Amino acid sequence: MRQLSDIDRDAIRLAQDPQFPRWLEQITATGGCANPIHLAGSTTTRDATTGEILHSYDTRNEPGERLLVRCRNRRATVCAPCSRLHAGDTFHLVRAGLIGGKNVPVDVRDHPRLFVTLTAPSFSPVHRTSTGGERCRPRRHAAHCAHERPTGCCSVHDPADSLVGQPLCVDCYDYVAHVLWHAHVGELWDRFTRAVRRRLAVTAGLPQSRFPDHARLSFAKVAEYQKRAAVHVHVVVRLDGPAGPADPPPPWGSADRLTAAVQAAARSVVVRVPYSPAIGEHALRWGREIDVRPLRARPEDYGLTDDAVAAYVAKYVTKGASDAAGGADRRLTAWDDIDAVRSSPHVRALMRTCWRLGGLAEFEPLRLRSWAHTLGFRGHILTKSRSYSATYAALRAERAAHEGHDDVPGTVTDVSWRYVGSGHTPGAALIAAGVAEDLARNRDYARSEGQSAARADY
Ligand SMILES: [Zn+2]
Ligand SMILES: [Zn+2]
Ligand SMILES: [Zn+2]
Repeated sequence: MRQLSDIDRDAIRLAQDPQFPRWLEQITATGGCANPIHLAGSTTTRDATTGEILHSYDTRNEPGERLLVRCRNRRATVCAPCSRLHAGDTFHLVRAGLIGGKNVPVDVRDHPRLFVTLTAPSFSPVHRTSTGGERCRPRRHAAHCAHERPTGCCSVHDPADSLVGQPLCVDCYDYVAHVLWHAHVGELWDRFTRAVRRRLAVTAGLPQSRFPDHARLSFAKVAEYQKRAAVHVHVVVRLDGPAGPADPPPPWGSADRLTAAVQAAARSVVVRVPYSPAIGEHALRWGREIDVRPLRARPEDYGLTDDAVAAYVAKYVTKGASDAAGGADRRLTAWDDIDAVRSSPHVRALMRTCWRLGGLAEFEPLRLRSWAHTLGFRGHILTKSRSYSATYAALRAERAAHEGHDDVPGTVTDVSWRYVGSGHTPGAALIAAGVAEDLARNRDYARSEGQSAARADY
């Protein structure tokens, strides 16, 4: 008989367990989560007046006396099924802010809405891909930097080329500025939003302090790591009346004015990092490439479509530093951890810069060692202003209600849960991955059916 692997033996052990069907139900309920949380405990629902038990559930009767629940990690490299769920929620949140739904009035569709991309500045040239087969960085005259390395590159790189995003000269690359820039993206962002409001107030002839009486700006933004391991920020910007999404924007609040304000604000903001004896002074700005596009309200208008933007944003939230750029999913605890990170020399150089700067007293508030795995960037991947649309929590509550777990009026529920573990045995991981794959395939099938049905409507 063929030798079975440990994984296969473990999977067979599970499948022979009399409680296997129930265990499989649990795995299916988690969507095939790769790293589920194990809970033990009970819930009891009673009638508030009579005290009669209406419903009770106890994990004592479950396989292994536990219930598995989703890890809810947003990153595809950590848990693909949960990241898909998270991406779906993000899609709905962003979309609701664009076209209404989830308690956002549909009139928001007629408010000025932009899709803006703010980039990182250049820290020194990196190898790049070309769409039309152009050469990377051709130079008419061969030149070399102070480190005797060529300042140009005549190759054509395809996107999979490991050179893409790597500096032409690592010694010319400003690693300190890159890390400091990442550490101040949040501050740059805050200054940017204040500057947009200020510019709008000026064009409307209002004192700045009166802006909130006339209009409200809301944002949903997502950070994306580029190949050069610097984040770009993609933002949906919407202009509402002072009461938020239900309120029409003021007469002066056109998409053109909003565009001009965004462009001017992005060019003007600067964060100055105080002088440090080790690295001097730094002035941090957004990169020169600023992309601002209006979203079209009607199919015949010029601009991006709402669904395209929502899908674009949703795709980015499943990614982290470990995807495009090759950062790490987990915190680094020591200098030596950096060598073990499977990534490019460029990314490891950024991590080392975080570690080094993180040891200087003047940069302590930036907590660069704690954020070395994300290359100094400590923002959330997705952030939105309160008035933009619904919240993840609201979507989860909606899903729970749909699945019949909501609170029924006139009842009291006692809940007692404790954490008893996480993850899968090797065989369980294999089965969970199969469940996740089946669910994904069914979903794709349902979607293609839905699309052909939609086409048939025309
Ligand atoms: Zn998961
Ligand atoms: Zn090149
Ligand atoms: Zn050089």
